Amino acid sequence: MKNKYKVILIVIISIFLTACQTVSVNNATKSVQMQNKTKSSTDYPGLNIQSTIVENVAYQYSIHVPYLNKKMWDQEMQLWTSNTVTNFIHEAKTHLTPDKIGPHELHIDFEIFSYTAEVLSVKFNKTEHLRGTTPKQSKIIYNFDRQSNKFLSISDLFKKDSNYLVRLSQLTYEKLMEDQDFKKSAKEKTIRKGLEPKVDHFNHFLIKDNKLIILLTPEQTGDQSGKERQIAIDESELSDILLNKYVKSTTNKDRNVQASVTKKVSSKKKAVLDPKKKHVALTFDDGPHPTVTPRILDILAKHHAHATFFVLGNRAEFYPNLLQRAVLEGHEIGSHSWSHPQLTKLKPKQIESQLDKTDEQIKMATGKPAGLVRPPYGALNDTVKSIAGRPIINWSVDTEDWKSRNANKIIAQVKRQVSDGSIILMHDIYPTTAQSLDKVLDWLNKEGYQVVTVSDLLGFTNNPESIEAGKVYSFKIK
Ligand code: ZN
Repeated sequence: MKNKYKVILIVIISIFLTACQTVSVNNATKSVQMQNKTKSSTDYPGLNIQSTIVENVAYQYSIHVPYLNKKMWDQEMQLWTSNTVTNFIHEAKTHLTPDKIGPHELHIDFEIFSYTAEVLSVKFNKTEHLRGTTPKQSKIIYNFDRQSNKFLSISDLFKKDSNYLVRLSQLTYEKLMEDQDFKKSAKEKTIRKGLEPKVDHFNHFLIKDNKLIILLTPEQTGDQSGKERQIAIDESELSDILLNKYVKSTTNKDRNVQASVTKKVSSKKKAVLDPKKKHVALTFDDGPHPTVTPRILDILAKHHAHATFFVLGNRAEFYPNLLQRAVLEGHEIGSHSWSHPQLTKLKPKQIESQLDKTDEQIKMATGKPAGLVRPPYGALNDTVKSIAGRPIINWSVDTEDWKSRNANKIIAQVKRQVSDGSIILMHDIYPTTAQSLDKVLDWLNKEGYQVVTVSDLLGFTNNPESIEAGKVYSFKIK
């Protein structure tokens, strides 16, 4: 028993050494390039999303974090995420479970509440599930002043000597009591104490448009259900004491570019598959990425090759223009979930939300929701299949590009595994994958392969009636 334990531990350590991966651009020249690219391709100029996705037999984690090219913010994100991962791996090692129960999981995803020239207000949702224990969920909130490069406390939002805590205490109390159901069971004494005018009581806040949202713990409100309460206070209710640069109405989203795309997409021609050729589908997961995806699109165009991009909703949200470009150049967009959790471990409602939110982003960018689904880690069960409601696409050739990060190794994997009808798995978030692509396509061309989208390969484009919801494909049987 002890020996077995040791072996597993060593495996975990060695897997971690080889598998730990981040998508990051650190040197100065690259950062500048990235920022420029980001400006043209997102509603959030200056903001880069870093996604780290690691999987092995012992554990899986996916972490999505926005970076700003601002030292204070970036350092904090780096430190916080690396500490979180280190702790998780440490915990995973001490909670070793039999293989059957599956790997330990950690997922960090974020939601931006406000992004203006002055402020970034963001909420992170963290889920940690060590097998054999109850999953732990937590929220981490950051508010950052983009101009003076500092993290904001509630006191920073208000004029000096404004007695803002007394006002917040009154307003949150009144608004809490507007909820009649809550009022019935409320304990006056607990609430009064929980809302006493102290910085700690109001320092858990978010900014959204012209609203200040105060988050109150169940300890503060005495909420029986253990629920956290969010109290939104309109800027107009605080206008005499607020410093007006932080809480103000914003229109930082401009997504009026969709109509023309929809039109062009709907007039897409039928797939022309050359019967004299062999066929493969190239698929790219986990993107889009502001620099890697455009490079991949350039190389595909050069080779007249078409691919399928299984995007993450939480990245598509920031780079809708890349999705549009892909579709306009004849590629296909599929769904790879919102934030890359293992869907088989989620409740049906959560699976729905992962897919619905992603479809919403894809539809906003391209005019229609994803026609295909690829579950993160390829993990499937009957619930996932039925909720997906579309064909499920796995793969038959794994290039292991995320693991090797080496163009030559990626090419070698393709050469070794590919055959007529293959679906090839790659990731458009690693520069090394883009580096390998030119040679991969040269070789496929030389070997007589036509590179097509998954829907073209499987015949869905020409025969929509052959599309079967929930059916799983990993290659085309000829
Ligand atoms: Zn993935």
